[in-house]
Amino acid sequence: MNRPDETDPTGHDPQSDPARAGSDVVVRGATVDDQTRCAHYASPLDVVAIRFRCCGEYYPCHLCHEEAAGHPAERWPASEFDARAVLCGVCRHELTIAEYQAATACPHCGARFNPRCASHSHLYFDIPALFRAK
Ligand SMILES: [Zn+2]
Ligand SMILES: [Zn+2]
Ligand SMILES: [Zn+2]
Repeated sequence: MNRPDETDPTGHDPQSDPARAGSDVVVRGATVDDQTRCAHYASPLDVVAIRFRCCGEYYPCHLCHEEAAGHPAERWPASEFDARAVLCGVCRHELTIAEYQAATACPHCGARFNPRCASHSHLYFDIPALFRAK
């Protein structure tokens, strides 16, 4: 209640804004801005963070996890692709892995995702070879 530095000059109540519903999600690692870009991937399209199955924590990329987590990354098996494990850094909406695989942009705010991420998504998700980007 008493949080003076979150006062919104428009009088808009941030608590009632559904776009902020997931804004308490913590993204770890070498983030360089508040849209989950990191020291490794910082193009305008690199706005997603991935929750790692091993520790349940969000990191901007597999290199951030490797440097900061101190344990090997565990990939999500295809049987768990309905887990919410992908975070849009722009609006903090959480997508399931299956939703992310099918999306080219955030279904909530429309932010474009980096199509090149598909080429290394097997680092995060155990995608059947049939569906892997060549
Ligand atoms: Zn981990
Ligand atoms: Zn990184
Ligand atoms: Zn979004």
